[in-house]
Amino acid sequence: MEPEEPESALETARRQLHHAATYLDLDSNIVERLKYPDQVHEVTVPIERDDGSVEAFTGYRAQHDDARGPYKGGLRYHPEVTRDECVGLGMWMTWKCAVMDIPFGGAKGGIAVNSKDLSTAEKERLTRRFTEEMRNMIGPNQDIPAPDMGTNPQTMAWLMDAYSMQEGETMPGVVTGKPPLVGGSEGREEAPGRSVAIITRAVCEYYERSLSDTTIAIQGYGSVGANAARSLDDWGATIVAISDVNGAMYDPTGIDTQTVPSHDEEPEAVTRYADEVISNDELLELDVDVLIPAALGNVITEANANAIQADIVIEGANGPITSAADTILSEREIPVIPDILANAGGVTVSYFEWLQDISRRAWSFERVQDELETEMVAAWDDVRTEFERQDVSWRDAAYIVALSRIAEAHAIRGLWP
Ligand code: GLU
Repeated sequence: MEPEEPESALETARRQLHHAATYLDLDSNIVERLKYPDQVHEVTVPIERDDGSVEAFTGYRAQHDDARGPYKGGLRYHPEVTRDECVGLGMWMTWKCAVMDIPFGGAKGGIAVNSKDLSTAEKERLTRRFTEEMRNMIGPNQDIPAPDMGTNPQTMAWLMDAYSMQEGETMPGVVTGKPPLVGGSEGREEAPGRSVAIITRAVCEYYERSLSDTTIAIQGYGSVGANAARSLDDWGATIVAISDVNGAMYDPTGIDTQTVPSHDEEPEAVTRYADEVISNDELLELDVDVLIPAALGNVITEANANAIQADIVIEGANGPITSAADTILSEREIPVIPDILANAGGVTVSYFEWLQDISRRAWSFERVQDELETEMVAAWDDVRTEFERQDVSWRDAAYIVALSRIAEAHAIRGLWP
């Protein structure tokens, strides 16, 4: 086989759309429309560095589709952010919101910057200026950003403040993933990892495995990986490997996940707590029951898909598996549970946060956890029904659920003018 070209998120997303559409009796005009974003904004974000010099960064906001509600999706600060990456990730947000049946469309944005190179003050200036550049395109009923790679609740608080100062009133609904003190939701930070855990539990039950007999390797120990690991550990699973950029901690007898700090608690510390360190590549190839890639995109490729020994793969990150690798895993009959279902807890609790913001009434942590559980189980049931009915992959089943809803919304709204 020819070595695989690195695939952009947009290429992966388009291929998945095309593939899933073949199972649906969809109007081809609607599929054609969904291949493209509604609009992509590119802005220059100049900031003053701490040494007094000025540096200009490039920022994007790709708004893919809003047939079902305002655009929704994260903001990423990462050196590899590109226009196409934002479009691809924005498409996934459209499907994710539709799988969950929440009334939002899809968007994604970001700045091509290594946030590790910036001081806190520089990050604040960058975020405030980016918010100003995006001010006309975002809003509580228009487009609602959230955290993603390289951004966090503090970033969202600055965004909310910068937007509100210019609008002349405090508008918490313009962004989600804020600290609870300023209109954020309890349980939002844990939510993507929590949903990965809820779906993993449902999948294990479906394949008649008890969690107490299940070994799990998780790549990434940030807000997705650490929260998934801790919930699954609580529920009796054996977490044998976790990792960060420096490498992986491996313990076949099971890691006590509470004792290892997550990225937010102490960045890049996993290997410091480990007796046995293996590489991230080795983690992916461990002989475990469940593998959860919860760090970067494109980590399972044509080069290592044949070496994956896990029985089940759950996508914690967005787009961790290239199309070619997905085909290999499917030929090898390894079930892959897609990102648009597994990590959708993040945007689901973002929706809860937005509801709390616009109604000016906070929910308790328990209520958030209960409602998240209900929404995840409902989406899982919808996807499982298609999986059983159509004899398709889990990814295609999730796409079928999502695309049917989006296509119906397009059909009923019609094309303007
Ligand atoms: N960035 C997260 C995701 O990829 C959350 C987006 C949101 O809450 O709007 O799902």
